[in-house]
Amino acid sequence: MCPVGVTMLNATINKIVIAGGGTSGWMLAAALSKLQGKDKYDITLIESEVIGSIGVGEATIPNIQLYTGFLGIDEGDFLQKTQGTYKLGIEFIDWTRKGESYFHPFGGIGAPLNGIDFIHYWLRNREEGGSSDFGLFNAETLAARENKCSRMEGNPRPDLPSVNCAYHFDAALVAKYLRTYAETRGVTRVEGEIVAVEQNPTTGHVESLVLKSGEKIAGHLFLDCTGFSSLLIGKTLGSEFIDWSHWLPCDSAVVMPCESDVGPLKPYTCSTAKEYGWQWRIPLQNRIGNGYVYASQYISDELATQSLVTSIEGKPLGEPRIIKFKSGYRKKIWDKNVIACGLSGGFLEPLESTAIYLVQSTITKLLAHLPKNNFDPYVITTFNQKIHAEYQNIRDFLIAHYKLTERNDTEFWRHCQDMELPESLKERLGLFKASASCNVQHAELFKEHSWFAVLIGQGLMPDSYHPLADMLSKGEHKNFLSNIHSAVSERVTLLDDHRDYLNKYLG
Ligand SMILES: Cc1cc2nc3c(=O)[nH]c(=O)nc-3n(C[C@H](O)[C@H](O)[C@H](O)COP(=O)(O)OP(=O)(O)OC[C@H]3O[C@@H](n4cnc5c(N)ncnc54)[C@H](O)[C@@H]3O)c2cc1C
Repeated sequence: MCPVGVTMLNATINKIVIAGGGTSGWMLAAALSKLQGKDKYDITLIESEVIGSIGVGEATIPNIQLYTGFLGIDEGDFLQKTQGTYKLGIEFIDWTRKGESYFHPFGGIGAPLNGIDFIHYWLRNREEGGSSDFGLFNAETLAARENKCSRMEGNPRPDLPSVNCAYHFDAALVAKYLRTYAETRGVTRVEGEIVAVEQNPTTGHVESLVLKSGEKIAGHLFLDCTGFSSLLIGKTLGSEFIDWSHWLPCDSAVVMPCESDVGPLKPYTCSTAKEYGWQWRIPLQNRIGNGYVYASQYISDELATQSLVTSIEGKPLGEPRIIKFKSGYRKKIWDKNVIACGLSGGFLEPLESTAIYLVQSTITKLLAHLPKNNFDPYVITTFNQKIHAEYQNIRDFLIAHYKLTERNDTEFWRHCQDMELPESLKERLGLFKASASCNVQHAELFKEHSWFAVLIGQGLMPDSYHPLADMLSKGEHKNFLSNIHSAVSERVTLLDDHRDYLNKYLG
């Protein structure tokens, strides 16, 4: 007998339909095609060229390499075909105060000693009159300052700190790349607009998608990658959207690429705080991606556009384009036989480039919980809880950037300073202030070093450090710090100039 709430299917779940072919649809299709091969699963992806995809999403975090590694993609080929560059972290300009900047690097800062984190030794050093520059102890920061970034095959110096990087790329070219990958491995692409969704009258499960042409695509499992339109999980199944705009008030972006300058190819994203939000600068091989993310309750689309257009560095490539969004997620990312992936399931504004990571995380969790012949409520609940935890943790990290600003030059920044925080973030900031620790849990995306970089960068200085940091004598402490700095600096000397390396590497 079927347990309560479990929907048994007569057939094994092997017909998978992906609705939507933006970055998330094709990332999913590629992953499923790699994992399952064409014989086990029948995978169909429907997309509409008329509707198109969102066309942004050009900065990633290092986890992307787990995805490309899983697919077995050759990095050189991938970067060449997607106009890709390396990214070592994000430079935050004017966020704490106008005229100041800090770097959020992708790798660790310093090294732990005697069971306590490096931050405590750094704080002691600072208290004793040493430098406040934590970048001196981080390879990515020093490399970024010199515009260096390159791969070192086989890591010839494992004794030195590693250099962690992600990619910047052209989102449309990535979707194209993954499409070729997936189609080669048996995924069927269907061009057309989905105009109706047919559901089982008893269970409410989706049974087929009806296209404008009249064609019907039936399946067992439906993956909603339809972007903000959220056709299946939102519009059809009515999964509630939990709105976090009161914490993350930016709800619009105006985007416009421009020609690359001839200067150094920066191996990092720039995020410059502006009067009513912030502006990104993402250097690709052939152009620079620019976008002003703003809160429309404080500035009109026209003024935001003007602000972007007058601040980009090179000749514009195309017209400015406005995108509207809301930060938040769907209460059920998985409901019945539909799983949302990408913007259809939720979105957190792009400050830390986490949306593609969330797609990747959804894919990983889907593969871990892939149903065989039923849709079990325990599995669905577990899946939803895990994804929600991801969203909440990232949400808190993003809010911290806004809350900790000292800027009060506009109503927008005053709102950010004054806003009530989620309890989880309030506790974490309190703990950090009191003891320089963050109590980061294992499954969290942003580890201690990320919180350290951003909280210190935003000006939240802990009141004290761990007493064990005083166990080192003055000389030992000094040697410890200078050894780390030397190792980090030595590692950076082994890197090539970013532009030279890409020219050489990509031929
Ligand atoms: C301003 C902004 C900046 C961003 N920057 C970053 C960043 O730097 N880094 C990052 O990781 N992420 C970023 N993102 C998020 C990133 O763009 C998305 O997460 C990513 O592109 C995935 O989008 P998607 O595939 O879910 O949706 P979309 O790209 O919108 O794709 C939706 C697909 O569904 C199809 N579709 C929709 N309705 C129908 C229908 N009725 N019939 C048939 N097909 C349909 C469309 O044709 C399209 O193929 C940003 C987002 C925004 C808004």
